Amino acid sequence: MLESITQRRYLIPFNAARLPQQFTDVLVIGGGVAGLRAAIAAADAGAEVLLLTKDTVAESNTWYAQGGIAAVLQPMDSYESHIHDTEVGGAGMCDEKAVRIVIEEGPTRVLELLEWGANFDKKPGNPHDLAFTLEGGHSFARIIHAYGDATGRELAQTLIRTVRSRENIRISETSFAIDLITDDADSQNPASNGSRCVGAIALIDEQVQMIWAKRTILASGGAGQLYRESTNPSIATADGHAMAYRAGATLQDMEMVQFHPTTLYVAGASRALITEAVRGEGGYLVDRNGYRFMGDYHPAKELAPRDVVSRAIVEQIRKTHYTHVYLDARHLPATEFLERFPQLAKLLEQFEIDPAKDLIPIHPAAHYMIGGVDADEYGRSSLAGLYAVGEAGCSGLHGANRLGSNSLLEGLAFGARAGADAARGAKENNVRFPLRLEHKIPPSTKTELDITDVKSSLRSVMWRNVGIERDGPRLEETREIIAFWARYVMDKIFIVNNLGPAAVAGWEVQNMLTVAALITNAAMSRTESRGCHYRLDYPRTDNTHWRLHLLWKRPIETPIPDPIG
Ligand SMILES: Cc1cc2nc3c(=O)[nH]c(=O)nc-3n(C[C@H](O)[C@H](O)[C@H](O)COP(=O)(O)OP(=O)(O)OC[C@H]3O[C@@H](n4cnc5c(N)ncnc54)[C@H](O)[C@@H]3O)c2cc1C
Repeated sequence: MLESITQRRYLIPFNAARLPQQFTDVLVIGGGVAGLRAAIAAADAGAEVLLLTKDTVAESNTWYAQGGIAAVLQPMDSYESHIHDTEVGGAGMCDEKAVRIVIEEGPTRVLELLEWGANFDKKPGNPHDLAFTLEGGHSFARIIHAYGDATGRELAQTLIRTVRSRENIRISETSFAIDLITDDADSQNPASNGSRCVGAIALIDEQVQMIWAKRTILASGGAGQLYRESTNPSIATADGHAMAYRAGATLQDMEMVQFHPTTLYVAGASRALITEAVRGEGGYLVDRNGYRFMGDYHPAKELAPRDVVSRAIVEQIRKTHYTHVYLDARHLPATEFLERFPQLAKLLEQFEIDPAKDLIPIHPAAHYMIGGVDADEYGRSSLAGLYAVGEAGCSGLHGANRLGSNSLLEGLAFGARAGADAARGAKENNVRFPLRLEHKIPPSTKTELDITDVKSSLRSVMWRNVGIERDGPRLEETREIIAFWARYVMDKIFIVNNLGPAAVAGWEVQNMLTVAALITNAAMSRTESRGCHYRLDYPRTDNTHWRLHLLWKRPIETPIPDPIG
């Protein structure tokens, strides 16, 4: 790891005694599925909860989820089958305990959503019977969905409504968490990690505030914005991963970034995801010559695991000397397509693409951060007082590759567990807040770089060199490039003159550089291919040497191997 990153404890200097203070039992950072579900569980267990979101509560990866939620809800399906599918997808790296927890508790979490008013789609003509679909890697049609392809919106709205019905939850929107606070004996010493997380420093109403919390739940979502091609909204800048790393929590599997095979490829448009369910319902992938190529790469064709499909597309693009391939849905009944994928149909219409007549241009994009803050069966991180759930955490459910529709389920299952455990812990009241904590950072003497330029160049280099296909020399080059930017960006304090959006943009880039360095170093370290991590120079899976996780903990510069099983 890079010294400019390992030596940074907080992004801003502060004197706690001089700042406005808030106190809560449980602080939840993030208002996606994991954070909302955690807040409900903590509130229902009697805790006072404060929930922060950096944008509005509706702006999250969760809101944009399309395909659905996987759960064993039918008599012909079984836990063992869902567990098996998840573990096959995870390529030997799943945590068996986490898999069993999510899959066995998942149905209860989903049925609870129905009680809270979630309107999942039903079979035609049968208002009581949920409709299920199939997705890649699942051997049973166990995916439920809402309004065709608006599952995330319905899920988020249901959870937000439920959160708002609890008097002991306060939501603070457009509130940016800058750093987790730890009760360090010596906050000036970068090697001192503190023994307990006691809340967060946040920018709320353009004011830096100390939020003291007996328990803190990090549910800050993913890292998709690290890549030029991404399905994630602009909030996904890996803030939580970086904050946890600075605070001394252990991170795991950072090389595991999942790329989604099918995003709309229209020049100038954002990379809108085209749900895997279109392939689940029978859509094909064809190249510029109209050739259906997936059979050349995997027996499951279009329903092969995501990493296989993404790599096959990249290879076919190379073979055909073209920029993209196509999704062919022309053979699917037009009215059913419209009913099943209304959001997608609307999007395609904007670009004058008629799925009944036209091929849909597609390309892969960064989609899901598998690596994250190492968390146990209650979402507890290695740092006392800190939990990590959802995309910010790494429970081990997904191993080296996530099955579609498993992450919303994970957010529900571990969100509920972490929330309840945090509330229990908060009642013990064994936390002392270091109210006089102070942290100083010397002003930078180095040149200022343009933050917008660094951000867009970082996203391009990550896409080119640390994307679907990786190799040693390119990773080494990327490490050098990140080291250069980090030297000039990590020593800056983005607060003195420009509080507000400009400061937030600066902190986000510092977080992105931190996590880009972790991903790149982890990808360099793992000299094999497994799941979504593919090394051109090490194309084989090496179970003799690499059945292990790579752990990262500041200020240690090298990864700590953690053998599996
Ligand atoms: C387009 C798309 C489609 C998807 N489809 C599916 C699907 O069909 N099925 C499925 O299972 N999964 C799907 N996924 C993945 C799934 O949506 C996410 O993995 C999941 O929603 C993550 O939930 P989360 O609660 O961890 O984070 P998010 O939902 O991303 O929420 C993160 C929250 O953290 C807050 N936050 C972040 N940083 C800070 C900060 N510094 N300070 C304060 N707040 C902060 C944000 O404001 C936000 O409220 C999809 C993802 C995308 C992008």
